[in-house]
Amino acid sequence: MCGIIGIVGTAPVADRLVESLKRLEYRGYDSAGIAAQVNGALERRRAPGKLRELEKVLDASPLVATTGIGHTRWATHGAPTERNAHPHIAGRVAVVHNGIIENFAELKAELAAEGHVFESQTDTEVIAHLLDAELNTGRPPLEAFKVTLDRLTGAYALAVLIDGQDDLILGARRGSPLVVGWGEDEMYLGSDALAVGPFTQKISYLE
Ligand code: GLU
Repeated sequence: MCGIIGIVGTAPVADRLVESLKRLEYRGYDSAGIAAQVNGALERRRAPGKLRELEKVLDASPLVATTGIGHTRWATHGAPTERNAHPHIAGRVAVVHNGIIENFAELKAELAAEGHVFESQTDTEVIAHLLDAELNTGRPPLEAFKVTLDRLTGAYALAVLIDGQDDLILGARRGSPLVVGWGEDEMYLGSDALAVGPFTQKISYLE
């Protein structure tokens, strides 16, 4: 079980994403990462090992942003390396995922045949490629996301950023938990109430 946190915010998020991931450490993990909208473009930082390693990467190369997603990974497909750590990015899409995409091999083969180049050994990366391909057909984000979800078999909790969409995080769950936190001027997504606890007590548990 990994951890997910997302913040659509009005104040800097990098430190808050990491603080939230620390509250999810009890779930176990082998690597961690965050992605954020930096001046309208997606950027990410990742590191294998403990969150301290991610903090070192962020100290050396800060992310200054008010919307972002974070993840602690418990590897199921692919070794616990930086390259396999989430978030995974394809084109305009960054995704963090908890769970297993059971039909990833066939989706990967289909996407590869269409020219998509994969960077990781994870099952997760197919989600980013699928959604990016749907966005490229001109579908709006929510519709493209729904079409993407229809292609997936397995269990997931997801948080997704789209390049340039500063005030948007897409989330979905099937089989893995995900909660929505309601803030004053901010919104949150998290694996559980602990993840969003520092920011709000107003929480919806997604069915
Ligand atoms: N199956 C994904 C992976 O191996 C996500 C694992 C998790 O839930 O952390 O990267």
